[in-house]
Amino acid sequence: AANRRFHPADTIVGGPGAEIGQGHFTVIAGPCSVESEQQMVTVANAVKKSGARYLRGGAFKPRTSPYAFQGLHEEGIRLLLEAKRASGLPIVTEIMSETHLDLFADVDVIQVGARNMQNFQLLKELGHSRKPILLKRGLSSTIEELLMSAEYILAGGNPNVILCERGIRTFETATRNTLDVSAVAVLKRQTHLPVIVDPSHSGGVAWLVEPLARAAVAAGADGLIIEVHPSPKTALCDGAQSLDCDQFDELMNGPRGLRARA
Ligand code: PEP
Ligand code: MN
Repeated sequence: AANRRFHPADTIVGGPGAEIGQGHFTVIAGPCSVESEQQMVTVANAVKKSGARYLRGGAFKPRTSPYAFQGLHEEGIRLLLEAKRASGLPIVTEIMSETHLDLFADVDVIQVGARNMQNFQLLKELGHSRKPILLKRGLSSTIEELLMSAEYILAGGNPNVILCERGIRTFETATRNTLDVSAVAVLKRQTHLPVIVDPSHSGGVAWLVEPLARAAVAAGADGLIIEVHPSPKTALCDGAQSLDCDQFDELMNGPRGLRARA
């Protein structure tokens, strides 16, 4: 069960050098979407050098508009695996349907996006896997609902769940979503599962990534997932909220760098 009452010690998810939880501070970085081999290898090597422990990149993209770029699908997974081989970084990528599970055999962490947080059939299937699952909070889901979705995966026998606060829908329109900083502290109190924050989708603009990342650290997050693109202006998805490689390096290794946390 996700509740601390039944499991007081913090859970660690991920293998040696890539642990998430229990005092490790782990940063996942990479583009919103996998676009090309050159893009992925460039960004993988850059974020690794800056201190990221995982490479992210979407191959199956849950876009609001059916006319927007939907991702490279199988080819995207193949390019992620190439970037993994080139950089040595383990990879995180989103699954949209349990029918695609075979394609995820060599993926290190499977992401369930905000829009699928309550896709219960998908959660049940992932419960039968042993792979780490990064479960993002739904756009309008309560903390209790997030924990119940985690419970679906745990109940199936998979103990490897990482929770992610990625901003919620509120009346506020100045930011893409509202980062629920309280959720980090509430979750850390209620559950032994690792809790990470996505400052990129929370704020929706690159300049907000740093303050939101610092807020997440202050609230006790076990890590961050940050969108980084070698050329944000030309990104096929979420360019406005993406850091370029230099901005990510500054965030990690600048004067008040987050790498000291890692
Ligand atoms: C993503 O990580 O690119 C993504 C689509 O996130 P979310 O599900 O939180 O919107
Ligand atoms: Mn994105």
